[in-house]
Amino acid sequence: MGLFSSKKCEVCGSIDSASMNVFKILDVQSQPYAYDVNATYSLIPEGYAFAFSDVNKSNLNGTIFFYKLSNANSFHLICSLQCAFNYSVKESALVIYADPENEKILRGITPQTLKINKGLGNPEHTKYRGQPIGRRS
Ligand SMILES: [Zn+2]
Repeated sequence: MGLFSSKKCEVCGSIDSASMNVFKILDVQSQPYAYDVNATYSLIPEGYAFAFSDVNKSNLNGTIFFYKLSNANSFHLICSLQCAFNYSVKESALVIYADPENEKILRGITPQTLKINKGLGNPEHTKYRGQPIGRRS
């Protein structure tokens, strides 16, 4: 049985769930950002842990979102990226999961994920997909 006694999605209640790692977000700040400004991630304000943005060549004046995280993290059973996004909005949480297409890539879903994917022009079927946050060693 492993870590969980039930296999039920915590968000929608369906069975046969995957597990995703969750960090809580303490605060989000955002600012407008132009594509031709260099060094996106060096703009992270003091005390913020990381940033996602919806800026690219086709969205030159997008937004960069900065996140502060609480230290506590936990594993939760969540069945889909849509449920992970709903969880993220409800709990103000970062949901981390391994990309099913390349398990070495970790992705993060935040309450801004839908807006970010739309701003980046990502296809409709990937609208809940998290942004890449790093690699598993
Ligand atoms: Zn679910």
